[in-house]
Amino acid sequence: MNRLTADELEDIKQRNPISDVAAGYTKLRRSGGKLLGPCPVCGGRVSSGRFEVFEKDQSWACYAFCSTGGDVISLVQHVESCDFRVAIERLGGRVEIDAARQREIFEERERKRLAQEKNSADYREAERKRLFRAWKGAVPIHGTVAAAYLEGRGLVLPDRCPGLRFLPSRAYFHGDEIDERGKKMPREIHKGPAMLGAFIRPDGKFGGLHMTWLTSLGDVVTKAEIVDPDSGEILPAKKMRGSKTGAYIAIVLLEEPRRLVIGEGIETVLSVYTAMHQAGRDLDDMAFWAAGDLGNLAGRANKTIAHPTLKRPNGQPQRVPDRFPDPDDPGLKIPDSVEELVLLGDGDSEPFLTECAMERAARRYGREGRSIRIAFAPAGLDFNDVLRAA
Ligand SMILES: [Zn+2]
Repeated sequence: MNRLTADELEDIKQRNPISDVAAGYTKLRRSGGKLLGPCPVCGGRVSSGRFEVFEKDQSWACYAFCSTGGDVISLVQHVESCDFRVAIERLGGRVEIDAARQREIFEERERKRLAQEKNSADYREAERKRLFRAWKGAVPIHGTVAAAYLEGRGLVLPDRCPGLRFLPSRAYFHGDEIDERGKKMPREIHKGPAMLGAFIRPDGKFGGLHMTWLTSLGDVVTKAEIVDPDSGEILPAKKMRGSKTGAYIAIVLLEEPRRLVIGEGIETVLSVYTAMHQAGRDLDDMAFWAAGDLGNLAGRANKTIAHPTLKRPNGQPQRVPDRFPDPDDPGLKIPDSVEELVLLGDGDSEPFLTECAMERAARRYGREGRSIRIAFAPAGLDFNDVLRAA
């Protein structure tokens, strides 16, 4: 037999998932991210979990008497005590690979490589640092295109707004493309000015970015219309990247606020700030945060419950997070100094889902000596609509 090419080898492995091949030799049970069972060679027991199969990287290992491991081909060699050539034959042998199959093999390998990279904590930390560099490279928001965008929506920016900045040019990625070295890379489909919001983690560190791409036509600044070049579909002008769990964007940041207003979106929170500012209210002891989304504002639920009316395509009720918090998730870290907490629910979000989330947040953040108020924008509107109609 001639030497197998890398693609032929990959083809054999892809046609023979290690979990299927191993299941033909021994009885396996799933445990966490791996499969366990007695070793088909040395009999290492189930209870000791000594024979393990990892689907994630298509490998196996026996930690009992064999003390060895490898890929699906080495598994066949080991169990059937045969050589490489025979193992290949057992796995269906070499098959002619045409251009289409070659493409598939490549895609599959790239997909796995990217998935592994994304899963790793290293990757997340590297992304956080990349986002932080973008944040450091951005300028304060006042007097920029981003400020003009907010002003155009009738919003007033606080004199100090540490959580928002402006970047004159930021790339927007969507889907993948293959670069000249044959590596799969994110595809840049748009580049332009963007408003950035920084997520601050509970430990006080930078966690990630909220990005809104903008476009200006004369004096008028609006959200950018970004179109998928393949499907023609209009893509969201906003993206959140990095980790936002338990993190918030500081619209108004105070060391020890007595009052705190928290909403989902940047514009929502600014709308309420603007309304209070224009009404001449004293805001000296009041902080304003944007949580990014409802789930992050309210924190994890202890379980899901059936939606009273919404159904899934199969006729079953839609499940939504419950009104009670999961005690293991602290949610946002509300400063001890806060005596008055105002939670903003947008009227343009699904009402039942929003109601549950607001109740959950109220239970989670409630404590002796703290009042919690839930403010809902009128049905079908967000606070910015209300402000613009005023
Ligand atoms: Zn063994």
